[in-house]
Amino acid sequence: MPDLSRLAIHTITNKPWSLAECIYAYKKIGIPALSVWRNVIEPLGAKEAGQMLRDSGLKVPALIRGGFFTSTDASVRQATLDDNRRCIDEACEIGAEMVVLVVGATPGLALAEARKQVADSIHSILPHAQAANVKLAIEPLHPMYAADRSCINRIKEARQICEQLHHSMLGIALDVYHTWWDPDLEQEIAHASRQKTLFAFHVCDWRVPTRDFLNDRTLMGKGCIPLKTIRQWVDLAGFTGPIEVEIFSDEYWAMDQTRYLEMIRDAWLTQL
Ligand code: ZN
Repeated sequence: MPDLSRLAIHTITNKPWSLAECIYAYKKIGIPALSVWRNVIEPLGAKEAGQMLRDSGLKVPALIRGGFFTSTDASVRQATLDDNRRCIDEACEIGAEMVVLVVGATPGLALAEARKQVADSIHSILPHAQAANVKLAIEPLHPMYAADRSCINRIKEARQICEQLHHSMLGIALDVYHTWWDPDLEQEIAHASRQKTLFAFHVCDWRVPTRDFLNDRTLMGKGCIPLKTIRQWVDLAGFTGPIEVEIFSDEYWAMDQTRYLEMIRDAWLTQL
């Protein structure tokens, strides 16, 4: 029997499925964990979703996603903090270990100022996260999203906020899609290991050519990311958590999801 003990799937990877369908299919194929996107708990509410997940026995590494902290409007920033606290409460309710933060970026707001807003916002919600016993993981996003999704693009920038706020509940979600090009990737993974801030490891692949900058990720092994090398660095860093498959793909969402799940499992077993 292949060892799937470290495999986790993000529910968005099987976007056509509801939470119940994800749970059923993952359990059936022997996948022990799933990271839950907020869209699948919305129709149920966190309480019912939490009950379903506890009943399933599956582990929940993360709730995705919180963040989007930046704005030129102070009242919007305040409302976002409230939403992030709700997100932390939902994570607690569904038994998720962490909330992944896509930190935001705002056209017209300088990146340095945006990063300052991000640090201030995370500082504000950390006590809430600690009280709920839910970790916060900053996910650096590829620089093609620097205009409007994330002012944090390199692991180094996430590390700087972790160092500034220095809190045991704050760390980094490393996603190969966003960070594979970073010349400091190996060093930063080692650094995160020393600082105990490597909270999550997300995998997929970068399709060449990329036809869409949001929804054209591909299966591990079908793109240009040196997955085995990055996996080695993560292993050397002592990371033993789940290796989470997170693929946004119009192409794969259009196919039979049960068959697709088998392809994911096989790629995860052979390409990492
Ligand atoms: Zn990710």
